Amino acid sequence: NPTIAIVGRPNVGKSTLFNRIAGERISIVEDTPGVTRDRIYAKGEWLDHEFSIIDTGGIDIGDEPFMEQIKQQAQIAIDEADVILLVASGKEGVTDADEAVAKILYRSKKPVILMVNKVDNPEMRNDIYEFYSLGLGEPYPVSGSHGLGLGDVLDEAVKHFPIDNEDEEDESIKFSLIGRPNVGKSSLINAILGEDRVIVSDIEGTTRDAVDTSFVGENGQEFTMIDTAGMRKRGKVYENTEKYSVMRAMRAIDRSDVVLVVLNGEEGIREQDKRIAGYAHEAGRGVIIVVNKWDLVKKDTHTMKKFEQEIREEFAYLDYAPIVFVSAMTKQRLNKIPTMIEEVSMNQNLRIPSSVLNDIIMDAVAINPTPTDKGKRLKIFYATQVAVKPPTFVVFVNEEELMHFSYARFLENQIRKAFEFEGTPIKIIPRRRK
Ligand code: GDP
Repeated sequence: NPTIAIVGRPNVGKSTLFNRIAGERISIVEDTPGVTRDRIYAKGEWLDHEFSIIDTGGIDIGDEPFMEQIKQQAQIAIDEADVILLVASGKEGVTDADEAVAKILYRSKKPVILMVNKVDNPEMRNDIYEFYSLGLGEPYPVSGSHGLGLGDVLDEAVKHFPIDNEDEEDESIKFSLIGRPNVGKSSLINAILGEDRVIVSDIEGTTRDAVDTSFVGENGQEFTMIDTAGMRKRGKVYENTEKYSVMRAMRAIDRSDVVLVVLNGEEGIREQDKRIAGYAHEAGRGVIIVVNKWDLVKKDTHTMKKFEQEIREEFAYLDYAPIVFVSAMTKQRLNKIPTMIEEVSMNQNLRIPSSVLNDIIMDAVAINPTPTDKGKRLKIFYATQVAVKPPTFVVFVNEEELMHFSYARFLENQIRKAFEFEGTPIKIIPRRRK
């Protein structure tokens, strides 16, 4: 996806603009913990162009002085984005901080669009001419709070998007590994690739800059391992901030068909693991849970079962994800991973014929009658699969509100009983029949 980044000094209204541009994003379930809070990364759409958008203002960079922070944020924008939106404020006029950021952006030669925010009424438009002095061309007056002027900015941004060269008939399955630092992602990458493309060492943060790597599995299937750039540590201050690595992981997830959520078997499940897994689920990608460092775990006959139970409890929303216990060190069960990825990918692309789907739904309703609310009962007329990756089912009903989360969940489970959807989320969308 083309990427837009928003930069600018504090209080110019970056996050308001970010939310306006990102619009409302529909999440698959309501109960994934802690995913939508303090968003700094989202999807947007304009004139048939999908894009990603980053609010660099949301990435706080430790205790650095103010000026240093916004310079780092500008650098993130340069590293990550195809188009940069520099936000200034028409109320305050040009400030030193605006000039400092403008200078850095100008030198980067990336396309920059200068937005002058808080221009809430037409009379204020005459005050924006001083912003030409920043040397970034025409300033665009906008009002984040009133949603004014954004169309012109996005029209301009779209012009700078790179031409989409993602190969349409690319048959390879894209996957990435995400997880906390030190769970063994780079070691797994090395071991799966079977060659030293990625350097591993005992010192945290030595992964060499990597690019996507393609390889062919045993039965001829091609795989592409997405460079989980969250692992790339180039020694910049911001690379160590959690928000920044989360953003990188989310970008890797976006480009993947299947995401391997890596846990450390020796340490068990941590809070951060849950958040990371939540992102993969929210994005609607296939998920496989990989428990690494299994060689270090003292085992008896119940150890694996117990760990599995714990995973099912802690990651309840990922109940569809298969689990595999591996060791990057001894290579135990690593050969299973490509096959698992391939199966999940097939499941994501399954299509159920409407007649079969409707039989399943009618049987489901017979076992467990539809819910009622204020004397009104949910009526299901018909269901149809409208998309794959993830499999998405529209269920036509009398009233959308009557489809409670728990009932949608029940229908999902019935569909899962009938079909092999292991590893992929399923979406069920109630829609009022016209
Ligand atoms: P990353 O930060 O997730 O990429 O983690 P690394 O791949 O850099 O691994 C962190 C440390 O754990 C390194 O010292 C690895 O040698 C070690 N490690 C990784 N996988 C395994 C494993 O399966 N077993 C054992 N014993 N050590 C491992």
